[in-house]
Amino acid sequence: ASSGDALNAEALDLDAQHVFHSWSAQDGRTPLVVAGGSGSRVWDHDGRTLLDFSSQLVNTNVGHQHPVVVAAIREQAGVLTTVAPATANLVRGRAAESILSHAPEGFAKVFFTNAGADANENAIRMARQVTGRDKVVSLYRSYHGNTGAAIVSTGDWRRVPNEYARGHVHAFGPYLYRSEFWAVDQEQECERALHHLERVIQAEGPASVAAVLMETIPGTAGVLVPPAGYLTGVREICDRYGVVMILDEVMAGFGRTGHWFALDAYGVVPDLITFAKGVNSGYVPAGGVIISEAISSYFDERVFPGGLTYSGHPLAMASIVAALGVMESEGIVANAARIGRDVLGPGLRALADRHTVIGEVRGMGVFWAVELVADRATREPLPAAAMGAVKAGSMARGVLPFVQDNRLHVVPPCIVTDEEIAEGLAAIDATLTDIEQA
Ligand code: PLP
Repeated sequence: ASSGDALNAEALDLDAQHVFHSWSAQDGRTPLVVAGGSGSRVWDHDGRTLLDFSSQLVNTNVGHQHPVVVAAIREQAGVLTTVAPATANLVRGRAAESILSHAPEGFAKVFFTNAGADANENAIRMARQVTGRDKVVSLYRSYHGNTGAAIVSTGDWRRVPNEYARGHVHAFGPYLYRSEFWAVDQEQECERALHHLERVIQAEGPASVAAVLMETIPGTAGVLVPPAGYLTGVREICDRYGVVMILDEVMAGFGRTGHWFALDAYGVVPDLITFAKGVNSGYVPAGGVIISEAISSYFDERVFPGGLTYSGHPLAMASIVAALGVMESEGIVANAARIGRDVLGPGLRALADRHTVIGEVRGMGVFWAVELVADRATREPLPAAAMGAVKAGSMARGVLPFVQDNRLHVVPPCIVTDEEIAEGLAAIDATLTDIEQA
């Protein structure tokens, strides 16, 4: 065996013995060893390379090991590796300024957190403070993070064993392919989902509702691209009842959709925007809340009751300044838009024309879901065993996929090239052919 093989074996052995993993039983896992990466690719210790169509957890928007971002982290490490949050720090100010330059008009300040969950946690806290109300309305098809209020805001199964925060209410959002509203087109789905949301707020008592929290495009739940008019309709409902509108851009933000923020595609302006992941491609843990002028000024003379030791950590801030800098100078957001419009979108639709196992393809930019079904007419989800075969088949062909329930999420980095998309689609094509023949 090569020395690479030995290191792979050691990584697997140490992992199995000593590392406790998220969202899973600890036995029976068969993790991938990742030792390094560059651009759209990752490899193990033996140099076995995979095209990363997952962007890890949909976060490496500038790709792996972007040299400018890595250099900025190194340089900052030589200057100051940590600093108290109450200090004024130049790189922190520059990171906030750069983030705000991409936000809509009317946003004033950034509160930095360690990741996406605590970004939502603090956005909820701000909404409760400002309104003096308690409840948070979020969607059943959503993921907002793994901490107190964020996990109870989450809609999926992960909420259920963790339901210890109070004041959370859920509603269904638009999802025409599996409509909860008996809708037959997007217009109906939109209208009925808005009616349902408003009825939930009315029934809960609008005077008790602090916030509506939604992912601009629910990501983990299936890249559920909302119909035109839904988010602006939510904005109107929030205005009608004095409810703070929080848009979670943790997964959809910073280039993923081919826009700086997914909300740019809908012309909607929330009161708070939460972010993490793509802001620095996850090179250093970081997230935050982008705060409107109105909410920010509420705290001009009132104490904000929240904080974190690592709020605005210098290594994270340096990586944000560099990552947003290269996204600007290298046209990375425009690349994601072009790839989605001209290459990946048409490529996935062409696959849907050939493979009856594909029920629906939806997305934009480098943010796509392919819904796999056992039967196109009934839309019955492809069973778990077949989904396992999709994952294994794709990896055997050199592509690291993102498989969630009965869906293949096609979420490469925003820097992905036409050739890499062609390579990845060819692997998916061959894998689906195998599945259909089995
Ligand atoms: N919000 C959304 C939309 C997410 O996709 C995620 C993570 O996947 C989170 C929040 C939580 O972020 P983190 O895992 O950085 O806490």
